[in-house]
Amino acid sequence: MFIYDLDFPALTNLLQQWDEPAYRVKQVWQGLYQHLYNSADEFTTLPKSLREKLAERLSFSPIKVKLFQDSSDGQTRKTLFELQGGHLIEAVLMRYDPSTNSGKGRRTLCISTQAGCAMGCVFCATGQMGFSRHLTTGEIVAQVMYYARALKEEGLAVTNIVFMGMGEPFHNYENTMAAIDTLNDPDGYNFGARRFTISTVGLVPQIKRFADEKRQVNLAISLHAADDNERLVIMPVNKRYKIDDVIQACKYYVEQTHRRVTFEWALISGVNDTPEVARKLASRLKGVMCHVNAIPLNPTEGYHGEATDRQRAMIFKETLEQAGIECTIRMRRGIDIQAGCVQLERASTSS
Ligand code: SAH
Ligand code: SF4
Repeated sequence: MFIYDLDFPALTNLLQQWDEPAYRVKQVWQGLYQHLYNSADEFTTLPKSLREKLAERLSFSPIKVKLFQDSSDGQTRKTLFELQGGHLIEAVLMRYDPSTNSGKGRRTLCISTQAGCAMGCVFCATGQMGFSRHLTTGEIVAQVMYYARALKEEGLAVTNIVFMGMGEPFHNYENTMAAIDTLNDPDGYNFGARRFTISTVGLVPQIKRFADEKRQVNLAISLHAADDNERLVIMPVNKRYKIDDVIQACKYYVEQTHRRVTFEWALISGVNDTPEVARKLASRLKGVMCHVNAIPLNPTEGYHGEATDRQRAMIFKETLEQAGIECTIRMRRGIDIQAGCVQLERASTSS
């Protein structure tokens, strides 16, 4: 059993079964999430007998580092992890220089929730791979702990966590939320809800459920098209959930949480980057408290689309803003290590 798969009540049960006094639970929890211990030996405040039990009966490393790569500017590190059973997933840390305006010294960690993805978006390297399996709660938490430990050595910490690695977090709803709950626990890692962002392809029932739970976690929706037929060509999920259904669910989310929604937009040259598309998008988003986050497409092997150039991206932004919708254009990070797609994963499995 992986120790990060246990929530606080489950850990309590386990230690009770081992006849340990109740206060030991907190010691173990704090060791894991405040001191970031990574092996039973490090829990020096625990009696040796308990440390031995922890070592024998629980695993501390549900994911193994297979490979990591730093971008040439040293600001982005992508790590490829091997899961039990051999599947590979990735997590990427992006550091933002405190001396520049964008990001203001953030250290944003992008993590995976599934090995592969079942949603099949044609422009996405993960979608092109198909679905392998859901990650357990512990496998999600462990990605954060790995980077938290690495940054701690420099006296630093993760400042933001985005669920934008491999997989669709709302397809693995329970484990993703359980991971957030563990990481959010004030007696543990204490990572504030507002510093998480979940990105979803737009699974309507889960958006509503998320809204009903009134979490303070940020929500981003991958829209990428303003017309149902056009969206269907690049995102098969549109067969089930139409753009209007997704937007209605987002309105419900805003009503329930009073929080702004982000719409993500991969700018694909000649496909979804024209002023006409921008105007159509603006008219559909009218009245939704939102913001559009556009990023030029990251080219992948399995899709022939090309990235929009900077000039056209700026025209797209201006057109949206003239129609009253805020838009940010983001430039890709870690281009030289293909961060933000799974080409590293591909490269290592095909060789
Ligand atoms: N499954 C979730 C989260 C993971 S993908 C989702 O789809 O939202 C994270 C983001 O990267 C999504 O907005 C997705 O549409 C976008 N994305 C995927 N492939 C891309 C590519 N090749 N170029 C640019 N953005 C891409
Ligand atoms: Fe899955 Fe998101 Fe990629 Fe679509 S964009 S295939 S939902 S990971």
